Amino acid sequence: MTSISANLQAVSERIRDAARAAGRDPAAVRLLAVSKTWPAQSVREAAAAGQRAFGENYVQEALAKLAEVDDPALEWHFIGPLQSNKTRAVAQHFAWVHSIDRLKLAERLSAQRDVHLPPLNVCLQVNVSGEDSKSGVAPDEVLPLARGVAALPRLVLRGLMCIPEPTDDVTLQRRRFATLRGLRDTLAAEGIVLDTLSMGMSHDLEAAVAEGATLVRVGTAIFGARPRSESAAVAGG
Ligand SMILES: *Cc1c(COP(=O)(O)O)cnc(C)c1O
Repeated sequence: MTSISANLQAVSERIRDAARAAGRDPAAVRLLAVSKTWPAQSVREAAAAGQRAFGENYVQEALAKLAEVDDPALEWHFIGPLQSNKTRAVAQHFAWVHSIDRLKLAERLSAQRDVHLPPLNVCLQVNVSGEDSKSGVAPDEVLPLARGVAALPRLVLRGLMCIPEPTDDVTLQRRRFATLRGLRDTLAAEGIVLDTLSMGMSHDLEAAVAEGATLVRVGTAIFGARPRSESAAVAGG
């Protein structure tokens, strides 16, 4: 067994244990393997171990890797900050985008999504940590943004995503994830029913699962510590 497959198994066990502790069905939590900065070979190893969904943050890096991996069975999620001038490539090559924080981005992705592809699945990235985090729509702007995105023809609004400030304080972790869950419930009361809460990473997935995550985005615990400092990018820079 390679270390990647052993790590995948260990992460699946963490998810299972956290789900059971919360009285949830472990099958209700998907694992997204975040392969940013890691080569195509690492993706292939994870795929050989049964992993299907992969997350990438940087458009150029991702396009090269997708082409090299060239496996139609894999599902690619774009989870990084997205600039308007990069939307076309993302609309063409990804199945999901988790980082929608303004209507203009969503409008461009919808207009650029190829008619022969299924609609693009999207999540709204919400800034649940206030001024500690730069990326994401403010909680009180989620409802109008959700209404606008839900109306776009080539997108399917699936859920909400957050990247709280890094902390070892489990109470604070849970409070941030509970904020995202509460926003999902608020939208549901307004008639916008979403099936995805994209929250939790290597260090806080237990807290996220306890608060209702349906998809956890895990890099380090699967592939190892990234070679260069990622803290700024993870915080949303
Ligand atoms: C890098 C990244 C992750 C994975 O973080 P780890 O701490 O390595 O598990 C998850 N989500 C986003 C948006 C990221 O940029």
